[in-house]
Amino acid sequence: MKNKKIKILLAAPRGFCAGVERAIEIVKKSITKYGAPVYVRHEIVHNKYVVDNLKKIGVIFVDELSEIKDKSRPVIFSAHGVPKSISAEANDYKIEYIDATCPLVSKVHREAENLHKAGYHIILIGHLNHPEVIGTMGQLPEGSIDLIQNEKDVEKYKLKNEKKIAYITQTTLSVDDTQNIITALKKKFVEIREPFKEDICYATTNRQLAVKNIAKKCDMFFVLGSKNSSNSVRLVEVAQKSGCIDSELIHSESNVPFHKIEKCTTIGVSSGASAPETLVENFINKIKAKFVVKIDEIEIVKENVVFKIPAKLN
Ligand code: SF4
Repeated sequence: MKNKKIKILLAAPRGFCAGVERAIEIVKKSITKYGAPVYVRHEIVHNKYVVDNLKKIGVIFVDELSEIKDKSRPVIFSAHGVPKSISAEANDYKIEYIDATCPLVSKVHREAENLHKAGYHIILIGHLNHPEVIGTMGQLPEGSIDLIQNEKDVEKYKLKNEKKIAYITQTTLSVDDTQNIITALKKKFVEIREPFKEDICYATTNRQLAVKNIAKKCDMFFVLGSKNSSNSVRLVEVAQKSGCIDSELIHSESNVPFHKIEKCTTIGVSSGASAPETLVENFINKIKAKFVVKIDEIEIVKENVVFKIPAKLN
C-alpha cells in the first residue's frame, strides 16, 4: 500500500471556534485561580479528548449540581449554556459558579428574553435534548417557547392564542436544512418575526461552507469530532449532501477504514468546532504511515474572532 498516492483536501476553517477556545481557557484559568478540583457541569465542550485532558488537571465533570460532593468548590457551566434554574440552584447551594456559555449562545438567550418581554411567542428551531436547546428554552417560563426540529414539525404546528410569533435557532444547525425550515415557517406564518442577525454562528457557517466547497471533489470525507457534537455531525451531513456520499465521523472509538481509503484518489478532512487540531494531525499521520500523501489545504475565509474571558479570572 505504501506507494499508493492519496490526495488530502483539508478544509479550512475547521476545528476549534472562539467559543470553545474561551470555554477551555476558563476551565484552565479556574484551576490556576482556585486550585483543583474544579467542577464542570456537563462536558465543557463536546469532545472526549478535551474532557479527558481536563480531568488530568483536576476537573470533575458532573451532570447535575446535586452530584457535587464538595460544594465549597467552584463550578463552571459549559459553552452550550444553561437554563436560568441552574444558576438559581447554584445560588441555593451557595456554590460559586463561572459561566462559560459562548457569547453567541448568550446572544440567543437575550434575544429570547427580549422577544418574550415584547409579547412574542417563540419558536426555537433546534434538536430535542441538545444542551443548548435545553439552556435556551430554560431562559423563559415554561410554555413560552416551542421547539421545531424539521419541516414536518412546521406542518403540524398549530398556533394557540398567540398574536405575535418569532423564531430563533440553535447556533450549530445545518445552514441549508434550517433555511428550508425557515422558508416553511414564513410560508405558514407570514408575519413571523426573524432574528436581527442570524443565530447560526459564524463558526458553524464557515465550517459547513469549507466542507461544501471541497466535498464534491472527494471520494471519501472524514470529519474529526465526537458523536454528541452537533457541529461535527452536521459537517458529515453537509459533506454527504454536497456530493460525497461516503462521509464519516471519526470519533474516539473509530477505526480508520484503510481498506476503503486505499480505493480513493482524493479524500476530504475537516473537524468540528469542539475538536482539537491534534486529532486532525493524528488522523493524517495514520494515513501518511500507509500511503504517499499530498495535502492541499483549501481555506475559504480567515477567522479572527476572539472572546474575552470573565474578568474575575484575569
Ligand atoms: S460553535 Fe458557535 S456558538 Fe458554539 S461555541 Fe463555537 S462559536 Fe460559540
